[in-house]
Amino acid sequence: MDALSPAPVVAPELEAAGPASRRRTVAVKVGGVTVGGGAPVVVQSMTNTDTADAEGTARQVAALARAGSEIVRITVDREEAAMAVPEIKERLLKMGLDTPIVGDFHYNGHLLLTKYPACAEALDKYRINPGNVGFGEKRDRHFTTIVEQAIRYRKAVRIGANWGSLDGDLLTALMDENAKLPRPAEARAVTREALVRSALLSAALAEEIGLPRDQIILSAKVSAVQDLITVYAELARRADYALHLGLTEAGMGSKGIVASSTAMGVLLQQGIGDTIRVSLTPEPGGDRTREVTVAQEMLQTMGLRTFVPLVAACPGCGRTTSTTFQELAFEVQDFIRTSMPEWKKRYPGVETLNVAVMGCIVNGPGESKHADIGISLPGTGEFPTAPVYLDGKKAMTLRGPSLREDFKKIVEDYVERRFGVTGTGRAPGVDAGIDAAE
Ligand code: SF4
Repeated sequence: MDALSPAPVVAPELEAAGPASRRRTVAVKVGGVTVGGGAPVVVQSMTNTDTADAEGTARQVAALARAGSEIVRITVDREEAAMAVPEIKERLLKMGLDTPIVGDFHYNGHLLLTKYPACAEALDKYRINPGNVGFGEKRDRHFTTIVEQAIRYRKAVRIGANWGSLDGDLLTALMDENAKLPRPAEARAVTREALVRSALLSAALAEEIGLPRDQIILSAKVSAVQDLITVYAELARRADYALHLGLTEAGMGSKGIVASSTAMGVLLQQGIGDTIRVSLTPEPGGDRTREVTVAQEMLQTMGLRTFVPLVAACPGCGRTTSTTFQELAFEVQDFIRTSMPEWKKRYPGVETLNVAVMGCIVNGPGESKHADIGISLPGTGEFPTAPVYLDGKKAMTLRGPSLREDFKKIVEDYVERRFGVTGTGRAPGVDAGIDAAE
């Protein structure tokens, strides 16, 4: 059919826009949070403090939790760290935070979890890497010990295979097998297979030891986008364990954000993934909570969850040489984020709010009408007024030096009226004290 052929009013392909239905997985309880089984995709993060510093680690866990991380992982790499875990949990509870804490173990998890039962008890999940639990014969013994502790304390376990620390024996065996084939696969494909098998074989072993399926989460992290998509699609095809998504060593700044969003976006669109972590390298002294914001924005922009009101802004172009609309967009975003802890308590549903800040009349009024609250600022040569739209209708016009403050006040009033429990549910209109719509 060419573009001009008669067509139905709406092409069937355009009827449903959104992610494929979520892949059905076994639900796993991590503390009070459910991962998988159709539960909303869970945002998690990881600290970068020395866990032996209980106070500093508790502070960072609290910051991550307050930013929206629903599960937080901490490193448990040595005895001092294991000893600090109960204190970290206690400090968090005193702050009113019951965020589930995951212990990240490598090489010595079997020793730490048996020697420090209070640590094993305080953690809500153990993360182990089948490539890093030991070597040769010891590997299965160490793995068994960790799984037995999880069974004893009824804790979830994430079996996290990783490209950078893949089970060497398994990879060698697969490479040898592949080499004997008449048409061997590429080495990279064999490595992907080894990663998938490492996760699945370890999960099968954990079940054999007695860990129920509803205490197992799998991950198979790699650092290349295409590998990640292929590996997780295959994991999802072969088993119904809950899956933790994450691109490892995603990198710094925009590179890390783009790589993580691209890889996880494709998988989430296919209904794959029950919990996500965006692994960003913070700038020295930078804000660790950035990874939480990015994860939330990823899920929200895909329409999978809502966390905070979104501010849409046009990119700007030659039609507006003023920076006012950019400044206003940032200010409003900041104002909303800062207000959210209070708004969440007082205005149920406020996270679904949409605000648009546009730079000129070309797309400004149109986009503003699609948002709950929209403002179209004057472009170059346009009359210096800014129409404001509420619920798709022009409600007032702003002008003058107090424009920014006036607009924030309009946002605040709208939130109060629409989402406040005593609110009218109606948007504010001419009584906002600004020029009424003509
Ligand atoms: S709304 Fe106006 S200023 Fe913004 S990108 Fe479109 S044409 Fe340019």
